[in-house]
Amino acid sequence: MHSISIDRVPVSNLANIDLNNTPFGRVFTDHMFTADYIDGKWTNLNIGPVVDFRIHPGNLTLHYAQSIFEGMKVCIDDGGTPLLLRHDMHIKRLNRSAERMCMPEVPESMFEDALRTLVNLEKDWIPSKPGSALYIRPYMFATDEFIGVAASQTYKFVILTLPVGPYYDKPVNLKAETEFVRAAPGGVGDAKTAGNYAASIYPAKKAREQGYDQVLWLDGKEFKYIQEVGTMNIFFVIGDTVVTPAFNGAILHGITRDSIIQILRDEGHTVEERNISIDEVVEAHQKGELKEVFGTGTAAVVSLVKNIGYKGTDYSIDVDSFKIAPFAKDYIAKVRRGQIEDTRGWIVRVEDAVTV
Ligand SMILES: *Cc1c(COP(=O)(O)O)cnc(C)c1O
Repeated sequence: MHSISIDRVPVSNLANIDLNNTPFGRVFTDHMFTADYIDGKWTNLNIGPVVDFRIHPGNLTLHYAQSIFEGMKVCIDDGGTPLLLRHDMHIKRLNRSAERMCMPEVPESMFEDALRTLVNLEKDWIPSKPGSALYIRPYMFATDEFIGVAASQTYKFVILTLPVGPYYDKPVNLKAETEFVRAAPGGVGDAKTAGNYAASIYPAKKAREQGYDQVLWLDGKEFKYIQEVGTMNIFFVIGDTVVTPAFNGAILHGITRDSIIQILRDEGHTVEERNISIDEVVEAHQKGELKEVFGTGTAAVVSLVKNIGYKGTDYSIDVDSFKIAPFAKDYIAKVRRGQIEDTRGWIVRVEDAVTV
């Protein structure tokens, strides 16, 4: 057990919050975890009030975006015990992102202790309403004061927690992007690093001006092969086959994507991870074989896609006839609340073992 100092807020803000009606990403719990990487080791492990950081104007992150993050959720079961879903995968992915961005590894045991202690402390903040959860945002950023492109010597690792409702409740309208690129193989598209999202804001704004909700990214070379959506991986049901783009170095290794592949295969569905071109999707649509399209990610879990716009033509899909996507969404919702048996070892109960 790593030693974490704890400074509690004098009065919780929870009484002022309507937990089951919080806008996504705007409401923070009372406490956060922080640790500093100095002289090659993690130190100052603390859980304290969510307060401002002091940042030097020359902070490296502000200039060169040496910064990574994760996103996961914790729910409570019917008995009120917090349940983490596949958090080990998130810890490993943060460390893969760290490696790509030349940042230090967060020891798994330190991450685990921080996570459990914080979740325990903020347990009362976990919304009980189906579809709602406590969102967990671990992140790390460079803290050196240095104008120059180089790996920082010092870093801060933080875990924030936020009560959230359902993310995209409504079916989404996607624009297959033929001008801008999110990521290319060899780049940082498969790291959860800040710059990827900064680069996506302008294309997303353009798409919204044209009436779309989000961008469906195509490959950066030919604008042909489908990659993913802003913060979601993407699935197509063509005939009886479920297809999702194979990893190619430019696609984020989604954990929800992995869960859904396993769940659907266990249900007897054929799931293919392979290259899929936008032309194949259009052709399937024209033949009436495009049965479902959906995005997957921790925030949205499963988001139904009602339309894809490509080169000025809209290809709409009847979301009311979807079967696989709603099944997968419901399945994950139940697993993470302990309402169906966890046969895959995905769930970890956060018991009151941590002493404060
Ligand atoms: C986080 C993220 C996803 C989804 O990953 P999950 O592990 O399922 O939450 C997909 N694409 C991008 C670009 C992301 O940042």
